[in-house]
Amino acid sequence: MTTTPMTRDQAWSLTRYLEGALGARVVQRTDAIEYQIVRGVVETATLNMVDTEDLLENYSQTIGPLIYLAPKHLVDPDLLVSVVVHEMEHVHQWHRDGLRLPWLYLTTQEGRATYEAHAYAAQFEWGRARTGTVPSSIEALGMPLEAPAYLLGKDEIKLAQSLLVQRMTSAAHGHYSGFASRIAIAWAERNAAGLLALGHKRMT
Ligand SMILES: [Zn+2]
Repeated sequence: MTTTPMTRDQAWSLTRYLEGALGARVVQRTDAIEYQIVRGVVETATLNMVDTEDLLENYSQTIGPLIYLAPKHLVDPDLLVSVVVHEMEHVHQWHRDGLRLPWLYLTTQEGRATYEAHAYAAQFEWGRARTGTVPSSIEALGMPLEAPAYLLGKDEIKLAQSLLVQRMTSAAHGHYSGFASRIAIAWAERNAAGLLALGHKRMT
């Protein structure tokens, strides 16, 4: 399936729009002061047990309303938007759940699996609207959650997979329920409909 390439301008327009809609702030390594804040929080949260430099080089992170984007996620416009939609869903969870989010995320595998499943679901919903496809199997859906950084057991990965299967079954019928993904798709419908897959069913 061919899709229209996304330009850097489109990717950043959508990112800026999501920042406004979700009250979020996107931070890069070049934003000196904000980067120091993100670095400090990550060092504290990981108790200096991991290499902060390596973590921030390779992983984007969301801390409350601050979204830190790893350098490697800035290179390709489609990857940028995909990551931004995922992280924006975490900002929505934080607005909704407040301090329960960091508490459940850090202290329970089940909490972490659920928050991540919904963030990946939003990311996959955007991908579905953009390309017309979703990851093709239950295994492929659950795969990102097997990353060692999430520290999830088999049962929690299964829980996340079943949540993702439900969400993707709805998405296949054009029903999107992610907060950030719905805003992103509505933006594209209004401003850049050519970015959406042929046969994309307009949201109601
Ligand atoms: Zn996440």
